[in-house]
Amino acid sequence: MAKPQRPKTAAERKARLRTILDHLDALYPNVTCELNHSNAWELLVATILSAQCTDKRVNMVTPGLFAKYPTVRDFANVSQEELAEDIRSTGFFNNKAKSVIGAAKKVLNDFGGEVPPSMEQLLTVPGAARKTANVVLGTAFGIASGVVVDTHVQRIANRLDLTKESDPVKIEQDLVKLLPRDRWILFSHQIIHHGRRMCTARNPQCAQCPIEPLCYAKDKSV
Ligand code: SF4
Repeated sequence: MAKPQRPKTAAERKARLRTILDHLDALYPNVTCELNHSNAWELLVATILSAQCTDKRVNMVTPGLFAKYPTVRDFANVSQEELAEDIRSTGFFNNKAKSVIGAAKKVLNDFGGEVPPSMEQLLTVPGAARKTANVVLGTAFGIASGVVVDTHVQRIANRLDLTKESDPVKIEQDLVKLLPRDRWILFSHQIIHHGRRMCTARNPQCAQCPIEPLCYAKDKSV
């Protein structure tokens, strides 16, 4: 396949980005977070559990977990040992149990038992770094506070030349400058879906990818 021409002007760069977003819309309309939850607290817990673990595995654990601990107070009162056992299959269970219990105590003591709907406040909650906070704010509250940068967004933003950074915080800074604010939430979900289904870390399905003519990735499979 012919090597894609890089845009030379700001207008060409803007048009290229618009085309990428259009392809993502066509591929993944109406996508959202794949972690099952029924409120912001459950999403916060599920997101903490999803570190180094698949959403599928987390979704197998959380129904039983939320049935056993229906309230934030229940999580604040459980022992770390017991919770670690409950979430063992998600990996890193001791650290995750510590974070979830710490988050429950913080939410209970400082925020009246409700997950706070702001980045500044969420970043004070144990286990909630920027990525987790962006997931909760975007999905549970519909607040575009930034762009979720997980391993898929990290890889694909580089493949698509939307950033040259490897640090997630710097990648997020690049993406919020490039993307219109009303795309911040949806863009992350679409890229995460693209990373799971087509633009995988190894052997991406580039022959099937409609973005291929605009992609400069050195590890394309075509
Ligand atoms: S062409 Fe390949 S590397 Fe580029 S975005 Fe598509 S799947 Fe990913």
